[in-house]
Formats: sequence, structure tokens, C-alpha cells
Amino acid sequence: MRALLNIDYTNDFVAIDGALTCGLAGQALHDYIVKLTEEFAEAGDYVAFMIDSHNAHDVYHPETKLFPPHNIKGTDGRKLYGNLEELYQRIRTQENVEYFDKTRYSAFVGTNLELKLRERDIKELHLVGVCTDICILHTAIDTYNKGFDVVIHEKGVASFNAKGHEWAMGHFKDTLGFEIQS
Ligand code: ZN
Repeated sequence: MRALLNIDYTNDFVAIDGALTCGLAGQALHDYIVKLTEEFAEAGDYVAFMIDSHNAHDVYHPETKLFPPHNIKGTDGRKLYGNLEELYQRIRTQENVEYFDKTRYSAFVGTNLELKLRERDIKELHLVGVCTDICILHTAIDTYNKGFDVVIHEKGVASFNAKGHEWAMGHFKDTLGFEIQS
């Protein structure tokens, strides 16, 4: 069994009026991410939605002084973008589909994702979502250190920082040794 880590593809990170949006670069991933998610879900592979979750006015959170408020619990900004929300609502009750709230860049911090992957003996992780140089990067570094095999989907990742995106793609390939699916 493989796993698809579907990271932060929400309105705030993707929509035109999102609080911390990747804009067109993020919107361009839509069809690819929806199709890949559907394929994994139908094949019985594990689909993990790893979604940033913040409280409004959280003075203790390190991101509060770095970024505008985003992915606040209970807001539309935190809903999955476009047809991914519809797809999620359709497949959410499947045993192989799971949604995790995360509060840090890495999907492994403060979640039981690793336990779920180890229980299922999953070794191959596929990463899509945003932002390439923030949440994808920090999750990727953790997967490397934990010894998973990783495939980064080039048509499935983007950032609001084009230079950061390019740098991170090079880092995945040359420093972490990940497979890049183009
Ligand atoms: Zn955040």
C-alpha cells in the first residue's frame, strides 16, 4: 500500500482571495491533485489530508508573527479548494481516507500520521499540495529522516515564492534523493 499526503490545498492557500495564497501557481495544480487523490482513494491506497489548523489570535503560535491569519478553524478559508472539497466529502467515510489537523509545517509534528503509516506497513509516500518550500519541505525532511521512500509530484506542488519552489525542488532531488514525478 502507498500513501498520498495531501498537504494544505485549502482556499486560504490557493483561492484568489485566500489569506496566504499561492495564486495561479496553486490553482494550476487543481485538476492534477483531484485526479491523483481520486486514483489513490479508488485503488485502496491510503489518502491522508494533512491540513493546517489555527486558532484566531493565537499569541503563542510561532506563525502568528510571520504570516497573516490563515486556515482558522471553522472558516471557509480552511476548506479544501475547488473540487477537492467535493471529492473529500464523497470519500471521507472510506476506511483508507483520513483527515488530520496539523499545527506545524511538518505533517508529522503533533499528529499520529506516523503511527497510521507504520500500522499499515506503508513505506512509499507521495506528496502533493502547498507550499513547496514550507509545509511540503518540512514534511519531506521528516519523511527522509524517518526512512520512507518519497515521490514528489512536480505538477502537484507550488508556492507563493517561485524562487523558494525552485530551490526546494532541487533539494528534494539532489539532497534528499527523492523521485520527482513530472
Ligand atoms: Zn499555518
